[in-house]
Amino acid sequence: MERDHRVIFAVPALSLVEQTVSAFCGEGLGCIGVVQADHVLTDPSQPVQVCSVQSLARREKPEAALVIIDEAHRMFASVNEWMTDPEWANVPFIGLSATPWARGLGKYYDDLIIAARTAELIEAGYLSPFIVFAPSEPDLSDVATIAGEFHQGELSDACNKSTLVGDVVATWLARGEKRPTLCYGVDRAHAEHLQQRFLEAGVAAEFVDAYTPVEERERIFRRFRAGVTKIITNCATLTTGVDLDVRCIVDAKPTKSEMLFVQTIGRGLRTASGKDKLIVLDHAGNHLRLGLVTDIHHEHLDDGKPKKAGEDDRERKAPLPRICDGCSAVMPRKAAVCEACGAVREAKCEVDAVDGELVELGSGTRAEKWAPTASEKREFFGELRFIAAERGYSDGWASHKFREKFGHWPNDAWTRSAGPTAPSLKTRNWIRSRAIAFAKGRRANGET
Ligand SMILES: [Zn+2]
Repeated sequence: MERDHRVIFAVPALSLVEQTVSAFCGEGLGCIGVVQADHVLTDPSQPVQVCSVQSLARREKPEAALVIIDEAHRMFASVNEWMTDPEWANVPFIGLSATPWARGLGKYYDDLIIAARTAELIEAGYLSPFIVFAPSEPDLSDVATIAGEFHQGELSDACNKSTLVGDVVATWLARGEKRPTLCYGVDRAHAEHLQQRFLEAGVAAEFVDAYTPVEERERIFRRFRAGVTKIITNCATLTTGVDLDVRCIVDAKPTKSEMLFVQTIGRGLRTASGKDKLIVLDHAGNHLRLGLVTDIHHEHLDDGKPKKAGEDDRERKAPLPRICDGCSAVMPRKAAVCEACGAVREAKCEVDAVDGELVELGSGTRAEKWAPTASEKREFFGELRFIAAERGYSDGWASHKFREKFGHWPNDAWTRSAGPTAPSLKTRNWIRSRAIAFAKGRRANGET
């Protein structure tokens, strides 16, 4: 860009004004003016104008040689009008979006340029790796679909049930590793119910929705950043402009919208110092319905024309994933080994055989006779640490498994000093059996 040519960078939310300004400044771009209420950075002479879409809709737009629309998939009516205004016909508009799949987006933009796909960004370290567990899903057989999405009222009835909500909480306690978590419910009642049950379980949970006053919302975010609040429940409020270090997403809001789904999971894909991965707990059946977020691509913009029956514009559609029998992790359909628990895909009878061996090890009379020595325990802890490292789990996971096995934490320094050692088949089988027992326990509780 030539220096005297102004650029408008339009963002759809107030919170994004601040984030954009600090991101630009962080990149050494200081020549910024802001168009938003009486913002302190108001300065029309600056070559880069960061503007809120709402302010632009109300005011005379500054002249510009280029317009960049952030979160272009949101397609505000005022932006659409602007783009089709003959006075702006010679100015190029560039839309930015991680989910450029909105209906009719192709009526306003000529071309889709895919800079990088989610999987590539994870591979390159720009986004966090993730693992998904899908231990239960609601029965949606009575929920109607309207205009491509579930009927919200019926969806709420199907999901806002005591057993299902209790299951979400139980899964987080078992799998969430006390990570900073965003939890998505169907609607306000559902999200508040989830918050309530987390509180009853002794987990510091708060609730945010579109009606939460800005100051209160900021206070909640501060408590979340400080680790005082572990979980924020919400109903689709926290999909854009949320600048939080989120390491677990609980998705309890079934959707048929790839955009909403990817935005929800996307809240947790940001990298952060010390963050190994994102854990996703899917209680909505979304992964089995839509696939992994890394599987969702479209090569073209939607032209807004009605689709013919059975027509699907998703290119090279990846087969839907499956769920590990052992630990309920979601994995690619063809994967032979579960990355989460190491379970090898095998016939049911073989799983049972492994299970049988476990009974021998883990419970029953023979187990009672087995009194491990201190060095056996230490060796076992070393094996757990090896498996933890292999799977990218924390040492906390190893401690937890140790406790599951021996009934106490590995508190003594000698045990804790055990370096990672390659695990025996017996230890690997025990780990696998615990995952199977976990899954069976869920089924026994009437949850499938
Ligand atoms: Zn598994």
